[in-house]
Amino acid sequence: MYIININGIVQGVGFRPFVYKLAYNNNLKGYVRNSSQGVEIAVTGDEISLNNFLKQLKNNSPEASIIDTMIVTTLPDSNFDSFQILPSLIDSGITHISPDLALCPDCLAEMNSTTDPRHEYSFINCTNCGPRYSIIKSLPYDRPATSMGKFEMCDYCSGEYSDPLNRRFHAQPVACSECGPRLQLLDCHKNPVPGDPLSLTRKLLKQGNIIAIKGIGGFHLACLATDDDPVNTLRNRKQRPHKPFAVMGRKEDLDKIVAVKPEDIQLLQSPAAPILILPSTGKYISQLVAPANPSLGIFLPYAPLHHLLLQDDLRFLVMTSGNFHDHPIAACIDELPPICDYYLTHNREILNRCDDSVIRAAQPHNIMIRRSRGYIPTPLSSDQILSDSFAAGAAMKLTFALAARNSIFLSPYIANNDTLNSLDFYQETYNKFCHWFKIHPKFAACDLQPDFMSTRFAEKLDIPLYRIQHHHAHIVAVMAEHQLDEPVIGIAYDGTGLGDDGIIWGSEIMIADCLSYQNKFHLEPLPLPGGDAAIKKPIRIAYAWLRQNMLDTDLLNNISDFEKNIITRQLASNLNVFSTSSMGRLFDCVSAMLDLVTQISFDAQAAMALEFICPENIMDYPPYEYYFDQQNIKIKPLLKNISHDLHQNIPHHIISARFHRTIIEFTLQAVILLRKESSINNVVLAGGVMQNRIIFSNLISLLKRNNFTVFTPRLFPPNDSSIALGQIIIANNLDK
Ligand code: ZN
Ligand code: ZN
Ligand code: FE
Repeated sequence: MYIININGIVQGVGFRPFVYKLAYNNNLKGYVRNSSQGVEIAVTGDEISLNNFLKQLKNNSPEASIIDTMIVTTLPDSNFDSFQILPSLIDSGITHISPDLALCPDCLAEMNSTTDPRHEYSFINCTNCGPRYSIIKSLPYDRPATSMGKFEMCDYCSGEYSDPLNRRFHAQPVACSECGPRLQLLDCHKNPVPGDPLSLTRKLLKQGNIIAIKGIGGFHLACLATDDDPVNTLRNRKQRPHKPFAVMGRKEDLDKIVAVKPEDIQLLQSPAAPILILPSTGKYISQLVAPANPSLGIFLPYAPLHHLLLQDDLRFLVMTSGNFHDHPIAACIDELPPICDYYLTHNREILNRCDDSVIRAAQPHNIMIRRSRGYIPTPLSSDQILSDSFAAGAAMKLTFALAARNSIFLSPYIANNDTLNSLDFYQETYNKFCHWFKIHPKFAACDLQPDFMSTRFAEKLDIPLYRIQHHHAHIVAVMAEHQLDEPVIGIAYDGTGLGDDGIIWGSEIMIADCLSYQNKFHLEPLPLPGGDAAIKKPIRIAYAWLRQNMLDTDLLNNISDFEKNIITRQLASNLNVFSTSSMGRLFDCVSAMLDLVTQISFDAQAAMALEFICPENIMDYPPYEYYFDQQNIKIKPLLKNISHDLHQNIPHHIISARFHRTIIEFTLQAVILLRKESSINNVVLAGGVMQNRIIFSNLISLLKRNNFTVFTPRLFPPNDSSIALGQIIIANNLDK
């Protein structure tokens, strides 16, 4: 007899019915049951069948399952009459919760079949697909503990639910149009609109209306992506002039709007169904969807409702998170900004919000931008045994982390900024995660920045608190992913993070391990007059930096004499002037010098504009000048060269290429110096600037060509979403 213990994502993904069928087909006896560690199987039978069983168990497991470990123990045979699915084994270990899963091909086929009882049913699902995380109230994951608890199954559904050979066996959200959730269409005053909600919604979308559509992790604001008018209206009402929107389209239509490779399709079709940012073809879609942007974020229909909406001539929809600016995504109508013409809603409650995940296609591998629906709350396993602990994160792209034993749970993306509304969502998710995963934090970690909402939250927990430097956390987050604990050369190129000397850092090249860091090189600190005011108006940074370096400011457009006066006075008096070594600000400065973006309406807009005009082959362009003055990378020659090129009317794309090349050149020089000094050959890339495809791929290949071993963020974003991950590892090492 074999006892097989399987760990990983094996609950709520059709694993037990799969095992049952496999045992049944191989004529084996025994049982399968959920345990708090995963799944436990006992099987007896002849040797050939047992070996077959083991092989198929490994190779044919359900698509949404992830087997982390599988331990097979041989024991003397027991007597079993049959193969059974036994009730769950309750013990005190950590249970994992499956992320939400996109509609599977079997359910899609049923939904499209006119003879199926669930024909065109918007909530069809099975053990391989459907909502999970977003509908869970408590554990163990059983129907009454989900927002499906209030729907009593009809005979047809409960027949499938209790048949071990059916793919809906113990599919907790199982439902049909007789017994399950229903759609409802409301007008802008939230009064019901009579008629078929689906066909009405499709008609109204085609007429150019903005419709809030309740999905899996929250509401989307939807409108036709092919026409300027609705997109323009949505931009005006959402007060979001430039930030790109994502577009949902059918698989067969994708190549019309983006350059898509087979591996991209595979990712888009995966159970996580993320948004993938790909090169745009510039056709079909309104230019207002992603203004002045050569790429487009696209995703496939992932909820049954999406498939039903995107039919016939309704091909491409803008589907953007339904929220107020910088607030968390709305889970109910009352949380939505009052800017919709209609609401397509339903009576299955979203208990746990999560935004769509976003990935950027890049070389040599994709870059995770936002890790949320489809990925959370799958934990990262660590080699290290961790204490029950909490890490609060930063402020931008806010997430937190909780750890226990060898698992680290990252929260869903809370919001882009720490507004008061995000505090409620943060607190609520914190309580749930502690409860579900049975974590009682003994200590906490937070950023050095005292003003962050996350810092204040951690302070109030009244447990020992470790304040962790932002860029050290960035680097250790990547180390955690790769299970590194020996010292590395870490590069954290970023927007903003408080340094241990009171300066705003953001271009740190460190020697770091999971406990401490030595800051070795960074851009020379330059003034940021007015702080946030300058971040919002990069032209002010350009003016200040050119002045500070005694360079000509005449070439700058879009800055008034009034502003120049203020900045000059600020610089002279040093009042309300911050000092920063931020790489993000250097991008802002150059972008403004080139007159690409002089005032931003969303984070990283100026830096992105500079990247967008950059040709791929930057190694064909010579770098600008720079020099090292002890720890400082001096950029006066760089600014001087760019000013010179602007006066010479050198095309902007060439200036951008040379600028990008300069950054990777001085980075290489710095890490070569550090390798000489320390004999460390492992280099870690981190920070928001690593979302820049040009920097990311060229830096990786240049470092590899110089025989460095390069570690990059893969499963987690390089940006501030991963700060909590780094913080929790450092705090656990400090607490030892
Ligand atoms: Zn399914
Ligand atoms: Zn039913
Ligand atoms: Fe950061």
